[in-house]
Amino acid sequence: MSKIVVVGGGAAGLELVTRLGRSFGRRGQHDIVLIEPASHHYWKPRLHEIAAGTFDSELDAVSYLQHGYCNQYQTIQASMSRLDRQRKEIEVRDAQGQTSMVNYDYLVIAVGAVSNDFKTEGVSEHCLFLDSAQQAQQAWEQINPLLRAQGEHHISIVGAGATGVELAAELAKVNEKLNRYRHDANLKVTLIEASERILPAGPACMSEKVHNALVKNGVEIKTNTRVKRAESGKLITANGEVINANLQLWAAGIKCAPWLAQLDGLETNRLNQLKVNATLTTTVDDSIFVIGDSAECPQPDGSVVPPRAQAANQAAGHLATQIKRRLKGKEMKPFVFNDGGMVIAVGHNYAVGSLMNNKLILRGRLVRNLYDTIFRLHQRILFGWGRVTALVVLKRLKGTLNPFYKNNIS
Ligand SMILES: Cc1cc2nc3c(=O)[nH]c(=O)nc-3n(C[C@H](O)[C@H](O)[C@H](O)COP(=O)(O)OP(=O)(O)OC[C@H]3O[C@@H](n4cnc5c(N)ncnc54)[C@H](O)[C@@H]3O)c2cc1C
Repeated sequence: MSKIVVVGGGAAGLELVTRLGRSFGRRGQHDIVLIEPASHHYWKPRLHEIAAGTFDSELDAVSYLQHGYCNQYQTIQASMSRLDRQRKEIEVRDAQGQTSMVNYDYLVIAVGAVSNDFKTEGVSEHCLFLDSAQQAQQAWEQINPLLRAQGEHHISIVGAGATGVELAAELAKVNEKLNRYRHDANLKVTLIEASERILPAGPACMSEKVHNALVKNGVEIKTNTRVKRAESGKLITANGEVINANLQLWAAGIKCAPWLAQLDGLETNRLNQLKVNATLTTTVDDSIFVIGDSAECPQPDGSVVPPRAQAANQAAGHLATQIKRRLKGKEMKPFVFNDGGMVIAVGHNYAVGSLMNNKLILRGRLVRNLYDTIFRLHQRILFGWGRVTALVVLKRLKGTLNPFYKNNIS
């Protein structure tokens, strides 16, 4: 019997423990353990909805304890803080600060990444982030009063990747819907991007379509604008422009937590991502795997796997199969990311998708349904189609009975 410890229950880690737990846990063949500091799983690409008050936690959050019980894996609510490769142990710290050691035969690190402030002065003090459900909830607690308060208020979002764009669009939509009920409050959203176009990692024609849709929704976009400093209530750009706002959110770039660079000799890159071979094993220890945003995984064409939800999900599926092969003494196959394209939600009824290697750009309501399907596919791995269908039906029903956003305005 082997003990497989997975650290981090996000897009990659939770799918992996689900698959491993179902394969091995039920028959008691191997021990599957998840180490995760949070009590509930929220799919990260939807965190902007928590910040905008449109996420339904009752239906779409997953309790790790309950999920682990149903899928035959054990959950330890704690954070990994140290690795001892010789003893095959990790140190974990719980919410009270108590540390303990957890041993493993195989270790999988899937702790994701956070926004990169590129050491820009004042950002950590004066900007909010959307790197966890807790941060998104804190953002919501500050955005909600601005949506309700009389007069015009202003939010600046730095970084026009998927996170920044989807948050800007969601906030603009919520503001527009609230304006149908009351006309004395208005929220202005400014999206700031250092590159010459929004969504710089996607194809140019997609950027253009999303840009036009955002502008139509009332979002102000400033491209070629590099923020040099953040202060209370204002951002100062490299060319001296001052952008005032009631609230500032930082959603630019990614980097991994610094502790990953101090893991008992494991190799990391400048973003603190752990370097792995094509088989997802670390370059120095083949009993340790890394998947998702915290891995730098090489691809046959010389590129590396991008830090995207789709890549995290594919890596989890691949690794579940490869761990089974490894346990049977078979050779592991390399992970090759299959890019299914990119879909960006612009509000509640519209999305733009780039498919077939950027040859096909689609937009509209149907593409928005495709965006939702990506989330439902993640849920399908966690629960199976029966429960996903029930969740979709319940969500529709609730949507007809309840206001579209969390705190009904009174
Ligand atoms: C608002 C937002 C919108 C996005 N939109 C898109 C999109 O449209 N399309 C797309 O492809 N990607 C999108 N992304 C990126 C996508 O969410 C990530 O690529 C994906 O979640 C990475 O999966 P992961 O499992 O590596 O990390 P995560 O999903 O971040 O999970 C990491 C997990 O590790 C846990 N953890 C952290 N530290 C520790 C520790 N020390 N010990 C134990 N556990 C730990 C965390 O609590 C978390 O549960 C978006 C991201 C954000 C924030």
